[in-house]
Amino acid sequence: MEERTELQEALLDSLQRVVDKEIAPIAQQMDEEEKFPVHLIKVFGEMGLMQARVPEEYGGPGLDLTTTCMAKELVARVSMTGAQLINQNTISFVLPLLHFGTDEQRKKWLPLVANGGVVSSVAITEPHAGSDVGAMKTSAVRDGDHYVVNGQKCFITMAPLADYITLFAKTGDVGKRGVDNISCFIVDMKSAGITLGGSEKMMGQRGTPHADIFFDNVRVPVENRMGEEGRGFISCMHILDLNRPTVAASAVGVAQGAFDIAVAYAKERKAFGRAIGEFQGLQFMLADMHIQIEAARALLYKCTRAIDAGQHTRLTEMASMVKCFCTDTAMKVTTDAVQILGGHGYIRGNHVERMMRDAKVLQIYEGTNQIQRMVIARRALGFR
Ligand SMILES: Cc1cc2nc3c(=O)[nH]c(=O)nc-3n(C[C@H](O)[C@H](O)[C@H](O)COP(=O)(O)OP(=O)(O)OC[C@H]3O[C@@H](n4cnc5c(N)ncnc54)[C@H](O)[C@@H]3O)c2cc1C
Repeated sequence: MEERTELQEALLDSLQRVVDKEIAPIAQQMDEEEKFPVHLIKVFGEMGLMQARVPEEYGGPGLDLTTTCMAKELVARVSMTGAQLINQNTISFVLPLLHFGTDEQRKKWLPLVANGGVVSSVAITEPHAGSDVGAMKTSAVRDGDHYVVNGQKCFITMAPLADYITLFAKTGDVGKRGVDNISCFIVDMKSAGITLGGSEKMMGQRGTPHADIFFDNVRVPVENRMGEEGRGFISCMHILDLNRPTVAASAVGVAQGAFDIAVAYAKERKAFGRAIGEFQGLQFMLADMHIQIEAARALLYKCTRAIDAGQHTRLTEMASMVKCFCTDTAMKVTTDAVQILGGHGYIRGNHVERMMRDAKVLQIYEGTNQIQRMVIARRALGFR
């Protein structure tokens, strides 16, 4: 267990009560019914967790990354869908505005997010452009004091509930590859010309809504562009690194949740007249799971504490290492938890079965683990 400050202790205590009362009882139902409990937005908004990273000067709680990750880990032990909301607005609104927004933009948008009721999404991925962000085709063409946006985004988490999205679109030649002509905009989801596509049925995290977003001549005010024209994605790469540990926090949480269930089961389930936990074969599996979770957690919080202290020299490779290691750990541990529960672990409706499906996406979104390994290897080799 990580050392905690008094403030962290108090926050996590009250969050634990919310998890026990509001999330644990419906964790399975959210998955089965593929329904997001909208009332959680209010619950987390009132706790300051929707707007966790909004600084106090703008009316937010000003939580640091470490505390935010602790909160996310705690909720993910029970439900990754529940954990999704924590920090949801950070990468879309808060960090871009703080790092490359104007004073005016910060004063306009951050107090709005600080109220806690706003939901936002990040829209980067397109049907033919995932890891290869530079292949995106959505365009934003300047027309007086507006940009006119056309194109399609896919897989956008929380899009059906989003009030705003942070949209990445090409402001230069859409046929030109690369990320140096992509700009970043705050787009009101009520804008004329925006429609949502049907949500794909996901393997895991099924309570979280996703959707395609279509843009047909959507007019976005120039004042909603964050950062310089053409520099939107490049500027965002730094803040994506700053936020990447939050994915790892979900990973450590879901791994811990599955491990706890596996331990309890191994103590109770009998085979050959003994508790299965007495068999060395399972003891070694449990020991490995425990080691992996502790190592993942140590790496996670080493990274968040460095980021909170402003030590960014190895930020990119550390953020990639943490994302890879923790999410690979979550996949391994949840899979082993299913194994320890035997056939019962394979039954739909069992927590570990859901956790294993949920864990898989952590290796895919926010930059696949192959892309993270590429980043780590390039730095080790001195290529970039
Ligand atoms: C549940 C879910 C939620 C999501 N939420 C969002 C969201 O809110 N906003 C958003 O913008 N996107 C979102 N995404 C999209 C996600 O970020 C992409 O799926 C991801 O970036 C991978 O892109 P892709 O699916 O196009 O796969 P591809 O880029 O086509 O990759 C396919 C495979 O090739 C590998 N690969 C690709 N390039 C290389 C390379 N150079 N070297 C080695 N291997 C490589 C990948 O690792 C992967 O294994 C979400 C996806 C899912 C599944």
